[in-house]
Amino acid sequence: MKLMMAVNPDPETQDKDAYIFAFKAEQLLVIEEGGNYRIPRSSEFARIKLTGIRELYLGGLHDLPCYAVDLDKSNVDPDDFCFTGLRELFGHVTEDLFAVAGYAFQIVHWDRMHQYCGKCGSSTEYASAERAKICMECKEIYYPRISPAVIVAVKKGNKLLLARNKKRKHGFYSVLAGFVEPGETLEECVKREVKEETGIDVKNVKYFASQPWPFPNALMIAFTADYAGGEIREDGEEIADAGWFPPENLPRVPGRISIARKLIDAFLEGQNPNFAI
Ligand SMILES: [Zn+2]
Repeated sequence: MKLMMAVNPDPETQDKDAYIFAFKAEQLLVIEEGGNYRIPRSSEFARIKLTGIRELYLGGLHDLPCYAVDLDKSNVDPDDFCFTGLRELFGHVTEDLFAVAGYAFQIVHWDRMHQYCGKCGSSTEYASAERAKICMECKEIYYPRISPAVIVAVKKGNKLLLARNKKRKHGFYSVLAGFVEPGETLEECVKREVKEETGIDVKNVKYFASQPWPFPNALMIAFTADYAGGEIREDGEEIADAGWFPPENLPRVPGRISIARKLIDAFLEGQNPNFAI
């Protein structure tokens, strides 16, 4: 992320026309122009006079301050503005702004969830020098929480293991993923998730890349792995259907927003550099 993160505004840039990432529940306020969305600036945001509950400084992007605002749910959509989900924002703004929007969403979510101390129930306050909230009574500190999850492309010869989640009845097929358990290494998690969900054993687990996934606070850590043994046996809990797919016969796969798609695209390139979907 290109954002220069900070908890206190830089006096040098304080008067500049800031980016405002304002959320009403899970939805982000954007300006709609000819079917496209863009992030409002502070001058535009001030004009529409929405009621905010809290405002948090995020840092500077290309020398412009960025703020996250948690809006009161009673606000109605002002003219030329609308509210959109983060997924729908993808492709409308630059990658840098999209990353800050995801960060803003996570910070607003964390802020909402830690208005009170989970240990003693007293009110919390913001720490002065770091991104944290502190209980005024027992001094417990709450940092933004990140939940690591692995995602893995398992290869068998020229075929890729893809599965359809039970929740997506007519939805796409994707590579397997799951949250890391306490006490587990990432490699152990990869082996466990694939085994649990499909009955397949894997080897040669290799790091691929990572991606913050703000729905609401996951960090996806992607791997590749090779088939080591076993027959496909869907778990019946999460996975409705799983199979080995060759490049020329792929089912519907996730959109370009996700690292799942980057793993699938990398598999396709590895099979045939000229092959693309
Ligand atoms: Zn407390």
